[in-house]
Amino acid sequence: MKPYSLSNIHTIFTQDGLLAKTLPYYEHRQGQVEMSRAIAEAFHQHQHLIVEAGTGVGKTLSYLLPALFSGTKTVVSTGTKNLQEQLFFKDIPYLKKHVSNHFQAVYMKGRANYLCLKRLDLFRQQALFQDTDDVDIFQQIQEWAQTTKTGDRSEIRGMPDSYGPWRDVCCTRETCTGSQCEFYKPCFLFKMKREADEADLVIVNHHLFFADLAIKGLGMGGVIPDYEAVIFDEAHLLESVATSYFSVSVNSYQAEDLSQDVLRELLSAKVPAETINRTLQTLQQLSQRLFRCFEPQSPSRYRLKEGSVDNDVAKIGPDVANILLMLISQLRGIKDCPEEIKALADRTEEMKNSLEFVLNRNEPGYVYWCEPQGRAIFLHASPIDISEDMQRNIFQQVSRIVLTSATLSTGNSFDFVKERLGIEQPVELIVDSPFDYEQQAVLYLPQWMPEPNSPDFTAFVASEVAQVLEKSQGRAFLLFTSYRNMDDVYERLKHKLPYKLLKQGEKSRNALLDDFKKDVHSVLFATSSFWQGVDVQGDALSCVIIDKLPFASPSEPIVEARIENLRNRNENPFMSYQVPSAVITLKQGLGRLIRSKQDKGILCILDNRLLTKQYGRVFLESLPRFPIVRDVKDIIFTSFRSVRSSKNGKIRKKDQSAPYSAQAAEVRSCPSSNSEWESALEGKDLMSASHYSMYDVFAEDELILHEGFGHGVVTAVHPEGKIEVLFKSGRKMLIHDQVI
Ligand code: SF4
Repeated sequence: MKPYSLSNIHTIFTQDGLLAKTLPYYEHRQGQVEMSRAIAEAFHQHQHLIVEAGTGVGKTLSYLLPALFSGTKTVVSTGTKNLQEQLFFKDIPYLKKHVSNHFQAVYMKGRANYLCLKRLDLFRQQALFQDTDDVDIFQQIQEWAQTTKTGDRSEIRGMPDSYGPWRDVCCTRETCTGSQCEFYKPCFLFKMKREADEADLVIVNHHLFFADLAIKGLGMGGVIPDYEAVIFDEAHLLESVATSYFSVSVNSYQAEDLSQDVLRELLSAKVPAETINRTLQTLQQLSQRLFRCFEPQSPSRYRLKEGSVDNDVAKIGPDVANILLMLISQLRGIKDCPEEIKALADRTEEMKNSLEFVLNRNEPGYVYWCEPQGRAIFLHASPIDISEDMQRNIFQQVSRIVLTSATLSTGNSFDFVKERLGIEQPVELIVDSPFDYEQQAVLYLPQWMPEPNSPDFTAFVASEVAQVLEKSQGRAFLLFTSYRNMDDVYERLKHKLPYKLLKQGEKSRNALLDDFKKDVHSVLFATSSFWQGVDVQGDALSCVIIDKLPFASPSEPIVEARIENLRNRNENPFMSYQVPSAVITLKQGLGRLIRSKQDKGILCILDNRLLTKQYGRVFLESLPRFPIVRDVKDIIFTSFRSVRSSKNGKIRKKDQSAPYSAQAAEVRSCPSSNSEWESALEGKDLMSASHYSMYDVFAEDELILHEGFGHGVVTAVHPEGKIEVLFKSGRKMLIHDQVI
């Protein structure tokens, strides 16, 4: 990997560095140099580092290169699958091709993604299917199992996410006997683990990271190998993911699942099952009675406070624990007990301990709550404050840790995230986005809106939305803080807007996003799950409208308990917890609009508290410096993604010399006739189009598929690396966001 080392790796990003010299599209960004330098220093000095890197800094390479050149075994953990895939399928191949091929990287998914050969073998012998479709897909799994090298379910084309029998054949911690298993050698999970043992870089997601930590905490073997450094990207998601894995949970399906697995193993081991079968039947009956006590009046989560649970729980709970105890002794009492049955006895013991922990509700520092999920009931005990768990399990264990995200600070301070995660005295860095927010976006705050709790609020929201969408010609995300507001505004507008309207819940998230990208004028109505992790570049997203400041519901059990906890510590929970959390969520939501230097558009927040309440300043000070408009007439949205200065000068005049103005991006604003597209397309097959990626080099006359603009033909390649593309819509664009 010479001549680079930790002390000079940041020079690879400089104006005359290796990337600028060797790559036609490399774009120097000072923030990227600063970030990589800070990360190299943190690796060298064994430091904990927090970096907020605005969108477009190129943070993944900023941390991957120092990590690789440090020679330390590093785990990179992401909040979303999208980013995990970007790292492994784009960034890593790019580094191998252009910088160094002397490293190994492994992409690890959670156990449930991999086929368990032992469970497949058992299932084959006693397979039960709900319908014929299930049988066909299972046949496909069996054939695939003969040839797959990875055992990763994503290779099975056409298997729906919800395919039930997969649960019976995938790897699970509870059913795995590790090196005792007869399939240990060819096992896909352990093959992946062995590769990870050898790798320099292990790419996981936060769910796998914390699930693995929880397993190791129970004294069992995890799959992630020992590491010397961790980089948490999308670190704003850490608190919620870590909370769920530091929680203790039981659910109404567990007794049934356990019973099925016990019977299957007894049959396989040819152990007489009569007595144990009776115990299992009693267990299932008692478990059903117990969970029926928690059946809620409403489908939402609720807190289990003192006295809030039926007296029956006090009686049935110990009965369930006793029957579990009996099952443990019956399983352990089996003569020459096979490993698989010993593992089931351990699992039964864990279930008993968890049940008692949740039902006793006497461990301080936990909030106890019930979560209905379809027909299942989950009971949880969640830590109110995870900072000590994080310190003990992570920050005190690993000397090199980087936390990064585009949204970690509030009001230019990391105090909130440090306090929540228990990270003490880290090195801190905020790297601004290279995007020119003053030129690329305008923030519309209407002059008059009723209070969000007013009965007229949604009527005013609908009216403002209609006016703003007229400016942006649809092409908008409407992000709501509640389903009620989303449904209400949707009903008011569904027959009034001349655009295709999409609503969360109508289809899967990915299908909705596909529809949204296909119809550039469409408008998507959505709630929390679209506030982050959604990346729509290009014409389809030109406007983001937010109905209310996204405060977490104070009646949500964990939020409520955290508020109480802070109050008990004489802190102001609103300013120290609720406002900073909402600031980070708002930054995430608004961050959907500007994803590249070409993106331009309108941001709109319809909550007047931003200006009327004192805390509104914290929100405004935490956002990039968008020009603010108070009258919808002042938004002038001309041609493609261009926001111009208003006549009254409230918006700064566009700087014609700005390097990424809309004019620079668009060669021609008037669409051409169809014939130009048809002649450009002549002899080409649309199916052969290469997916446009900022990492690729395209040649003249090549057919591309751009995520935002659709199909296009490269009509010219400019010397500085920009490509001129004629898109199917008739627009001709200079694409110049090959950001590396
Ligand atoms: S080692 Fe574990 S995961 Fe692998 S085949 Fe055996 S039981 Fe399944």
